Amino acid sequence: MSDNFPLNHSELMKLTEKFHTPFYLYDEKAIRENMRAFTKAFSIFPEFREHYAVKACPNPYILKILMEEGCGADCSSLPELILSDLSGIKGDHVIFTSNETPASEYQYAYEHGNIINLDDITHIEFLKESLGGKLPDTICFRYNPGSEKQGCNSIIGKPEEAKYGLTREQILEAYSICKKEGVKRFGLHTMVASNELNPAFFVDTAKLLFELCAEIKEKCGVNIEFVDLGGGLGIPYKPGQKAVDYDEVARGIREEYDRVIVPAGLDPLAIYWECGRPVTGPYGWLVTTAVHHKHIYREYVAVDSCMADLMRPGMYGAYHEVTVSGKENAPKDHVYDVVGSLCENCDKFAVQRELPEINRGDLVIIHDAGAHGRAMGFNYNGKLRCGEILMREDGSFKEIRRRETVEDLFATLDLNGVKDFN
Ligand SMILES: *Cc1c(COP(=O)(O)O)cnc(C)c1O
Repeated sequence: MSDNFPLNHSELMKLTEKFHTPFYLYDEKAIRENMRAFTKAFSIFPEFREHYAVKACPNPYILKILMEEGCGADCSSLPELILSDLSGIKGDHVIFTSNETPASEYQYAYEHGNIINLDDITHIEFLKESLGGKLPDTICFRYNPGSEKQGCNSIIGKPEEAKYGLTREQILEAYSICKKEGVKRFGLHTMVASNELNPAFFVDTAKLLFELCAEIKEKCGVNIEFVDLGGGLGIPYKPGQKAVDYDEVARGIREEYDRVIVPAGLDPLAIYWECGRPVTGPYGWLVTTAVHHKHIYREYVAVDSCMADLMRPGMYGAYHEVTVSGKENAPKDHVYDVVGSLCENCDKFAVQRELPEINRGDLVIIHDAGAHGRAMGFNYNGKLRCGEILMREDGSFKEIRRRETVEDLFATLDLNGVKDFN
């Protein structure tokens, strides 16, 4: 787990006087420092870019910080494309890795010069129709290695059971078709893991893609100009797990690059990523207050948030470290289920967790929530999602998303019309 929460107890108490819990807190300095380490590790390649997966934390302030650190964006919907553009991430720094995409979204991406990453061979024709009979100058394809790639984990499943990407045969045909159609520049993408902590896994994925690049050159006469390794780099949610060493991953991939890409005459080849989780995950926290206690067959502590603010534990049984502000060094001599207020029994931030004694009013911090946290929120049960606060590098705080109101929740309803409805 990350023991990197940036505020001591009195600083957090002071913050909660101004911004009431629950809220997300993000650490700008830590996000920037991590991104710089990531970029530095991959500076051993002729060209590198991380395209932040917008879905992980779709907040324009976060996107702007990452843009300043050299990141592009990975989008999969029209709102994500628009948000990236509004945050200053534009043109070919945006990769549109979508699936089951409507024509209007392809049109928007094309008009804004975004790189379109096709998920299927039939989408070549669909894209052409969508764009009035032409294809973009640059096209990327998403590869699904099927049973060729082993050892994938449970969130994303086995490649041969995944709905994404083109098969090996299809991908060769797809590049040949596009070449004939006059497409000039090409990329190759895959994403076969989620929350993977083993560096060797990513080296192996790169090797697979590099060898495919060489084969595509040989069989289709197409020179791939960038390889997009997708996301899936994990973070150590659990105590005792180790963060992925970016340098180790980069060096391993560089070895394969020298072994496969250079002799194939494909150097310089750009290396892209679409990571979300390792970029913001460890640098965001959900800060809550303990509001109730109950003692039945188990001991329960209820906090003023719920699964609507952070779905991962309820949805995947995901582990998130929980700490109590000011009690970091207190003995963990209680066992609690830390729960939210949703009418669903899976709404538990922690199950049978050893924690220090929690009293009403204690600030309970849920760690590693900076990616796929607030973003996966929902409004079931009429729950209003919490806001987001950014801790700036100078230690000041900025509310970068306000908490939802009842008016927000009802905004799509016709409350006037219903008065006359009978
Ligand atoms: C979700 C996703 C990502 C980001 O994954 P992380 O685990 O957050 O790094 C990147 N690319 C695609 C296509 C995705 O679906």
